Amino acid sequence: ELTPADILAVNMQGEPLSEGKPSAETGLHTQLYRRDANIGAVLHTHSPTVVLLSQIWQDDSLSITGWELQKAFAGETTHEGTVTFPIFPNDQDIDRLSAQVEDHMQQHGQGHAYLIRGHGVYTWGKDIAECYRHLEAIEHLLGYQLELLKIRQP
Ligand SMILES: [Zn+2]
Repeated sequence: ELTPADILAVNMQGEPLSEGKPSAETGLHTQLYRRDANIGAVLHTHSPTVVLLSQIWQDDSLSITGWELQKAFAGETTHEGTVTFPIFPNDQDIDRLSAQVEDHMQQHGQGHAYLIRGHGVYTWGKDIAECYRHLEAIEHLLGYQLELLKIRQP
């Protein structure tokens, strides 16, 4: 639904290339584009499923295994693998948060996506189609996790 008028181009430092004010979270996008030249698209949403699950999930990461839909992520070829989503605390200081994300990726690998607690999800791909596929998979897979938590409640 976006039109060119909704898009503001920025450089890799997040500075606008034309009139306008970039999103407060631009630094989280540019961190990904700077670190990996194969990333051609980054999507961020405030998906209710992700926001809710990230808020009640106690650990600082969420790993899933055994789901066919894991194969939606680029390079994942079997449900027998494990896909891990780190969960970072929300932070209004985007420079600090993006540095934390970068540090985590250097230590643990880039992965496919990360969550920000009580806020949303970032995911990326080689192009917008792959990125959107990842986003849709996250929506389903984390939706399953949320439903499992409800079912398993005593
Ligand atoms: Zn946001």
